[in-house]
Amino acid sequence: MSPATLRRGWCPGVLRPMPTGDGLLVRLRLTSGELSCRLAADIAGLADRYGNGAIDLTQRANLQLRGVREECLPELTAALGDLDLLDPSDSAESVRNVMVSPLAGIDPACVDGRALAKNLETLLLRNIALHALPAKFGFAVDGGGLWPLGDVGADMTLIAPGPGDGWRIRLGGSPSLSQPIEVAEATGQVSRLAQIFLSKSSTAGFRRMRDLVAIDGAAHIFSEAGLLVSNAGLAVGKRATPEAGGHRFSADACIAAIGLPFGRIEASKLKPIAALAGPRAALRLTPWRLLIVRCADEAAVTAILAKAPALGLVTTPGDVRLAIDACTGAPGCVNATTPTREDAILIAGVLGQDHLKPGTIHVSGCIKGCARRGTARVTLVGRDGRYDLVVNGGPSDAPVRTAIARGDLAAAVRSALAVAGGAA
Ligand code: SF4
Repeated sequence: MSPATLRRGWCPGVLRPMPTGDGLLVRLRLTSGELSCRLAADIAGLADRYGNGAIDLTQRANLQLRGVREECLPELTAALGDLDLLDPSDSAESVRNVMVSPLAGIDPACVDGRALAKNLETLLLRNIALHALPAKFGFAVDGGGLWPLGDVGADMTLIAPGPGDGWRIRLGGSPSLSQPIEVAEATGQVSRLAQIFLSKSSTAGFRRMRDLVAIDGAAHIFSEAGLLVSNAGLAVGKRATPEAGGHRFSADACIAAIGLPFGRIEASKLKPIAALAGPRAALRLTPWRLLIVRCADEAAVTAILAKAPALGLVTTPGDVRLAIDACTGAPGCVNATTPTREDAILIAGVLGQDHLKPGTIHVSGCIKGCARRGTARVTLVGRDGRYDLVVNGGPSDAPVRTAIARGDLAAAVRSALAVAGGAA
C-alpha cells in the first residue's frame, strides 16, 4: 500500500472490498454526496483501470466500483488515498453512513444541511463507541425543499421542516418528530440516541432503530435523551418527485438531472458528462438513480442533456427505464440465476414510452430484493433461471405466476400491469 497519509483520519486509509460474482466491489462514500467533475473523471479512470468500468449509484447515494481485480487492490488503495477517499478503518467506513438532500446549497427552499452532515461524520469517526452500530445503520440530513429526501430507510434523520424552523429528529420510519433543536446540539442529540439504541440492542439483538421504536415507542426513546415529541402539524416523510431533465433554481443554480438506468453508469459515459460540465461544475449523488450535475450556466445543462441520450442515459421524466428497479443479478451477484438488468432492458424496450411512475416494476434476482425497499405494482423474482411474478407486493410475497421464461417476460408484465392498474 502507498504511504499516502489522509486528511480525513490523519492515518493510512483502508478499503473494504466485497466479493461479488464479477470480482470485488469497492464502495466510495462521498461526503454529502458531493464531488467535483474533476474527481468524478478521476474515479471513472480508476473504475476503468482497476475494475470492469461499471459504477453503481446506490440507494444510499454512494458509488460502487465493480469488477475490481484482487491484484489491483494495493494500487487502487493508493490512488483512492491520494484522492482522500479512504477511511481510517473498516469500522469508520461502515459507520460513516450519512445521506444529505442532494439539492442542499442549490435549491433555496432546501435548508443546507451539508455542514451539519460533515459534523455528524466527524462525530461518527471520532466516537469509537458508535463504531459498534450495525452495518446498515444509517443517518440522513433532510433539508426539505423541492426534492425532500423523505423516507430513505435511515435509522435517524435530521429534518428541517422549513427555513427558520430548526432541525428535528426522526427515528426509523416513525411519524413522530422531536422538538426543534439548535444546529449546535444536533450531533450531540444524535449521538445520545445512537448510544441508547446500542445499549438496548446489545441485549435485544435487533439491528435497526425501527425495531427499537416498535418496542419502546419514539416518545419514550426521545424522553430518555431528554427530548419531547413535537410534530406541531408537520407532515412527515414527504416523498420526493425528482425528475430527469434541466432545472433552474436561481440565477446561478441550474442543474442537469440525469437518470442512470437501473442505477449504473459506465466510466466511459461518466467521463464525457464530467468533461461537458466543465472543471467548475460539481456532481451530486442521489438515492433516486439520478445524477445531478450543477452547471455554471444553462448552456452546459443544454449540452449535457443533448449528449446524454446517446450515452444511454435518461433525460426525460417519462422514460420507462426510470419506472423499473433492477438489482445487479447474474453474473454480478452470486445469488442470482437471471440477468436482471438485461431482462429489465428487454421489458423497457417492449413497454416503450408508456408513462409509468418510478418504482412501478421491480426485477429482482432473488427474494432479497436489493434494488427496492417496499412493494411495486409488478415484481419479478428470479428463481432457477426463470421468474416468479408478484402483483402489488414485494419479492418475498406470494407470486400469482411462477417460472416465467425470459421470452414471455414482457407480455407477462404487460398483462400484470393491467391487473395492478400500473399505468400512471
Ligand atoms: S436481490 Fe438477490 S440476486 Fe439481486 S443483487 Fe440482491 S442478493 Fe443478488
